[in-house]
Amino acid sequence: MNLSDKIYVAGHNGLVGNSIFKFLQNEGFINIITKSSKELDLRNKALVDEFFRIEKPQFVFLAAAKVGGIHANNTFPADFYYDNICIQNNVIHAAYVNKVEKLLFLGSSCIYPKNSPQPICESYLLNGYLEPTNEAYAIAKLAGIKMCQAYRQQYGCNFISVMPPNLYGPGDNYDLDNAHVLPALLRKFHEAKINNSETVTVWGSGTPKREFLFVEDMALACYFLMENYNSNAIINVGTGIDHTILQLAEIAKKVTGFTGQIILDANKPDGTPRKLLMVDKINALGWFAKMDLETGLSKTYEDFKTNYEYYISKKQFSSQGA
Ligand code: GDP
Repeated sequence: MNLSDKIYVAGHNGLVGNSIFKFLQNEGFINIITKSSKELDLRNKALVDEFFRIEKPQFVFLAAAKVGGIHANNTFPADFYYDNICIQNNVIHAAYVNKVEKLLFLGSSCIYPKNSPQPICESYLLNGYLEPTNEAYAIAKLAGIKMCQAYRQQYGCNFISVMPPNLYGPGDNYDLDNAHVLPALLRKFHEAKINNSETVTVWGSGTPKREFLFVEDMALACYFLMENYNSNAIINVGTGIDHTILQLAEIAKKVTGFTGQIILDANKPDGTPRKLLMVDKINALGWFAKMDLETGLSKTYEDFKTNYEYYISKKQFSSQGA
């Protein structure tokens, strides 16, 4: 990509999209287009068609999606299915019609089969049953990947799909009903500390393992793949390291300075037992994650504390995570 190329970052107010947008700005790209969901509802085909017809972007980062944690996915499967199918159908098709040079679509580690051998190779996709708590989201994302592959096969479009693990960092979603585990725990520990509570409740058994990737590492990976990867095969992005939920809770406890007790709530679902990505393929191309979990959590916590009022005022689903 040249610094003057026209680049559309779809979902620039979400966790990943915002990080990609800032990264491109810092690199010196001067022709980045963004639209908030209020300005352009990506679920509306006519509006998306019109936008692409007028703007004619050369490159598209498709980071717009409805994403949420285990509770949200389990409670609103229809919304996760419909919104994501509409967004990706509209954007990917318009990218084809308007001759976009390259598009990057975000999949997720949670769309691999529930009982995949670990670490999860790219070839395990569609090799078994999905995790029921986020099946609707997974089916939508799988359709997006297949759509990119179909458009490459039939029309020669250079559309690629990237598979991140659980993402976190500044700009995350801290609405406890919808958040993923990492921001949810940061908020719970922080509030327990300032309220002098004796306990923090962590959902489930604490034994599931998750891989957490700092969003700035993810943004760099997206840019790296936009520059260096042209294939119909999906590609994993991750750290290659995972932690149990209880280990994560201990780190969050340390980072926030909470001194009370952790309680496990066995009535809440565990979800997939483990989803560690095999990252040999992207490592072989030359990209490696840089941020370790404790440092990334500390950075995220600083941002959360600084913008606390803003974050807790937001009742939201976030744009794109895992
Ligand atoms: P998942 O990766 O799709 O399962 O989504 P989450 O990030 O929401 O949850 C990951 C794991 O963390 C699950 O086993 C949850 O039960 C567990 N967990 C523990 N406490 C929390 C919490 O406060 N919020 C969320 N979202 N998950 C939690």
